[in-house]
Amino acid sequence: MDQTDGAPNPNIARTGDDIFDVTIIGAGPTGLFGAFYAGMRTMKTKLIDALPDPGGQLAALYPEKYIYDAPGFPKIVAKDLVKLLMEQAVQWNPVVCLNERVQTLDRMEDGTLVLTTDKAKHLTKTVVICAGVGAFAPNKLNAPGVSELEGEGIYYFVKGKAAFQGKNLLIVGGGDSAVDWALNLQDVAKSITLIHRRDEFRAHESSITELRNSPVTILTPYEVKQVSGDGKLEQVTLFDNKTKEEMTLDVDAILVNVGFKADIGPIREWGLELDKRGILVNNKMETNLPGVFAAGDIAAEEVKMNLIATGYGQAAMAVNVAKHYIDPKASIFPGHSSEKM
Ligand code: FAD
Repeated sequence: MDQTDGAPNPNIARTGDDIFDVTIIGAGPTGLFGAFYAGMRTMKTKLIDALPDPGGQLAALYPEKYIYDAPGFPKIVAKDLVKLLMEQAVQWNPVVCLNERVQTLDRMEDGTLVLTTDKAKHLTKTVVICAGVGAFAPNKLNAPGVSELEGEGIYYFVKGKAAFQGKNLLIVGGGDSAVDWALNLQDVAKSITLIHRRDEFRAHESSITELRNSPVTILTPYEVKQVSGDGKLEQVTLFDNKTKEEMTLDVDAILVNVGFKADIGPIREWGLELDKRGILVNNKMETNLPGVFAAGDIAAEEVKMNLIATGYGQAAMAVNVAKHYIDPKASIFPGHSSEKM
């Protein structure tokens, strides 16, 4: 049962004694900085994200773009900032649960909050929602045969290069991810064909030059017409979307990199006060639910500014107020890290 009014739910049984001080939903820049801050305040911290990799919008939407307004960096490539944020966050050993989407938020009679994902129940004293524009999920390839062969040769993420060892691989997409994987999987795949529905790629110029000088076969403007195979992927039929000319390739794997869609979905059902800008918060990043905070793009303060830098400040505020919430003797202001570490 979803929480709808912040009141305790007697139907939720305790599922274990591993209760975290704070659980942060979302491993974008806001959640990662929040996890670091929570660790610095000696809070037992958990971080959950729907995607298999941390970084939120930076990793999913613009990994190769330069960011010019990240504090301390005159310019930095988005994926490098994510790497550094992750390095900063994990020094306190938070539990990191990736590939898990939080579906419900409930409260037990003793006040413990319960987050239920598609994989587990997570018990926690406080929650900081850093869910950005919502949980990201990859856009699916829309062609006959694809849904039947998902997991049997059709991939949306690279969890390890070994899955493509010795394979005839088709990569679909025209952005940075598709081009980067076409370059990075050359040392393991037997052959790589990259198709894109437009003639122009949307990737970093230097990557496109590298791609054009590589052995990768590039086909544009091509799309997938259908895939087939007996229990596992064997063939793909492609078509030129201008001439309608078709070709069939023998392939063992297709890696689809055609973007992500974001959806705040279940968060709307948790009993939080929202408006069209996001979750309403006060200047301590408190929501209407006790012990539940929001920060970053999902938080709707009076004036809303969706910037990485804004998220950092909000995450620090939310975590420090959460610390005081679970331990009223602890001050909200943590002091300075330069004096503590
Ligand atoms: P996000 O980055 O959106 O991360 C939220 C995370 O929460 C996601 O990983 C998502 O999967 C996860 N999540 C959501 N719901 C759930 C759930 N139910 N369960 C589990 N996980 C969940 N800002 C700048 O300051 N400078 C820039 O130069 C800049 N350039 C940009 C360029 C582009 C193309 C875009 C799209 C944005 C840019 N931004 C920039 C904005 C910046 O990326 C965002 O402000 C920032 O990513 C917000 O961080 P966040 O952590 O709050 O949310």
